Amino acid sequence: MKHVMETYKRLKIAPTSGKGSWLFDDEGNRYLDFIAGIATNALGHGHPALVGAIKEQAETLIHCSNLYEVPIQEEVAALLTEATDFDEVFFCNSGAEANEAAIKLARKHAAESFGPEKHEVLTFDKSFHGRTYGGLSATAQPALQEAFGPMLPGFAYAPFGDLEAARTQIGPQTAAVLVEPIQGEGGINVAPEGFLEGLQELCDAHGALLIFDEVQTGMGRTGHLYAYGGMGVVPDVLTSAKGLGGGVPVGALLAKKECAALGPGNHGSTFGGNPLAMAAVRAVLGVVNDPRFLEEVRFKGNILKNALEVLAARVPGAEVRGEGLLIGLDLGPELAPGVFQKCLDDGLLVNLVGGRTIRLAPPLTVTRTEVRHALNTFRGAVDAGVSVQPEFAVA
Ligand SMILES: *Cc1c(COP(=O)(O)O)cnc(C)c1O
Repeated sequence: MKHVMETYKRLKIAPTSGKGSWLFDDEGNRYLDFIAGIATNALGHGHPALVGAIKEQAETLIHCSNLYEVPIQEEVAALLTEATDFDEVFFCNSGAEANEAAIKLARKHAAESFGPEKHEVLTFDKSFHGRTYGGLSATAQPALQEAFGPMLPGFAYAPFGDLEAARTQIGPQTAAVLVEPIQGEGGINVAPEGFLEGLQELCDAHGALLIFDEVQTGMGRTGHLYAYGGMGVVPDVLTSAKGLGGGVPVGALLAKKECAALGPGNHGSTFGGNPLAMAAVRAVLGVVNDPRFLEEVRFKGNILKNALEVLAARVPGAEVRGEGLLIGLDLGPELAPGVFQKCLDDGLLVNLVGGRTIRLAPPLTVTRTEVRHALNTFRGAVDAGVSVQPEFAVA
């Protein structure tokens, strides 16, 4: 791609159509899609409910701005609040924008309740909150911030999972703690037992908001509509995007009434909550927000995780992490890149995070047969990798 700015290091494949869990290029190749547009194509490709909803809405009304009432926006906000522990929703177009809105909301909430000195946002090492300045300042990864300084003031960072470190960082200056319940881009790192509960207690003690970035873990990805539902901790604010529109760009900020501090003129988005995006969210929710569907996500996730654990047991130092259909297999920096490449050669699309962890995030609609197919390919790739790396050849 010569005319597209090279902000991505792209693989040399070019899918042009998709059906279910499969992608096809113009040369007759097919790929089993186990990354789903980075956990975004929740219903896979070409799902009739989503396609039908978009078609119908496109013919009716695509956009008319937030100058007017948008009935379908209110309807979808009601669906989301009924399905969760939140009361109000702000719609935008991406994960980064949802986090921007969350940071603004938290600062206004703190300023109104305590004064402008209370504005700090605590985030965690290896987090990922988006590429805008708010999101990037919140993203505690020096490699991503480098060359773009200065970052926004008022952010503090602590190691993910280290409650004692967080305790020393949270104080009267803290407006919010922003955390992914499972770090996605950082390597599928699951919050250790007690960490999120501890953060909630610290937030309560200091009048700070607990914000979960569920951009990647939301919309059924972990086998719960939102991951917090399986963790016993309800945050004050939650951000959602990626799978929310099943591939149609849409993001959302969900907040409890007590902290929904944004009012007229405080924030906005031209495209946010437009009827086309709302029709997509309504269609995706219609499929995903069903206990049987979510149970099947957990079931397929367990098949995948158990099989990967057996595989990991053969590779010294390897580890499986994740929940539902968001799984990371950490094979280390020597083995992972080769396994990733072999999967690609064999028509299985996965993703490599941090140079050492294979991320699997298939469509939530993936079939059990496709899960077995992917596991066979994956097993072959790991075996091939182990056999050319004698140091991994353990009995
Ligand atoms: C992808 C992601 C974002 C950024 O979302 P965009 O839609 O790319 O702006 C933010 N937070 C998390 C946890 C993500 O996975």
